[in-house]
Amino acid sequence: MYPKPIERYFAPTTITEALQLLGEYGGNAKLIAGGQSLMPLLKLRLIETQCLIDLNRVQGLADIREDADGLCLGPMVRHADVAASPLIRGGYPIVADAASGIGDPQIRNRGTVGGSLVHADPAADYPAAMLALDASLTLTKSSAESRTVEAGKFFLGPLMTDIREDELLTMIRLPKPAARHSAGAYAKNGLLAGDFAIISVAVQLTLDNGGRCERARIVIGGTALGATPAVRASEILIGGKLDDALCAKAAEAAAQEVEVNSDVRASAQYRRELIKSLVPKIIRRAQARARGD
Ligand SMILES: Cc1cc2nc3c(=O)[nH]c(=O)nc-3n(C[C@H](O)[C@H](O)[C@H](O)COP(=O)(O)OP(=O)(O)OC[C@H]3O[C@@H](n4cnc5c(N)ncnc54)[C@H](O)[C@@H]3O)c2cc1C
Repeated sequence: MYPKPIERYFAPTTITEALQLLGEYGGNAKLIAGGQSLMPLLKLRLIETQCLIDLNRVQGLADIREDADGLCLGPMVRHADVAASPLIRGGYPIVADAASGIGDPQIRNRGTVGGSLVHADPAADYPAAMLALDASLTLTKSSAESRTVEAGKFFLGPLMTDIREDELLTMIRLPKPAARHSAGAYAKNGLLAGDFAIISVAVQLTLDNGGRCERARIVIGGTALGATPAVRASEILIGGKLDDALCAKAAEAAAQEVEVNSDVRASAQYRRELIKSLVPKIIRRAQARARGD
């Protein structure tokens, strides 16, 4: 099916210009980044818009750089570039893991991290990784007005976020993990390779010099509610040696505490079993990275 006719198309080249257009057309306009979620919705006529504001030529939205506080990731960075970035793979591997399993190469070459976060599909890959890392998002309304929202407050529910009609996501910030013995890992289980997650697991760990767990964040994705921190399961790891027994205990707790659903792709019981089998593997992967194995 073709989308309903779109009357106006703009291709701004600066953030200021994009924000002016957004202010002018607001509710009647849609921003388009990679188009990998927006175009299917328009073509299926699940949404319609009179005006498209294309972000692909806007300068300054596709940087990957690190400063003293952490990583600054531009919203227009493509999934393929996130997956391939030595900076991200080295310091924030949980995000590279998430990006590398998204869809297929075509989707990864076009789709952007910002588009995925704003679209907020409950089965998307980035949200669990962003929550595990305590990411924050900069939402800009004008050159004089922007606000920073923690990922934990940005995602309000399936396909719902805190972004307003006249705001542009201009930056994703990932705090720098502790200098030593700190790393994360992410993996998902879908029906096919590169499929949306039935269940996904993100784990970010910091170990002390003796290898005990100092800080842990486990987040479960792929449920109807979207990425959900497994708080009790994370607490179980603190102070422990992360052996098989402790990993299994945390996995059991995660399967119990996170609300899972049944749908056409999997039953709630199957999702619980997936959590139990995936959590220990991902803890071990994060642990190996944190130790530098
Ligand atoms: C076949 C297929 C398979 C897929 N598989 C997966 C998968 O396995 N895992 C996964 O996570 N995702 C998957 N996706 C979704 C994919 O990751 C999309 O790329 C992503 O969800 C949207 O990013 P985009 O850049 O294409 O955004 P667009 O589709 O262009 O935009 C999405 C939404 O974000 C808004 N937006 C975009 N950029 C900004 C910004 N800077 N500020 C404010 N609003 C903005 C748009 O207005 C729109 O509402 C799949 C998609 C397809 C078509």
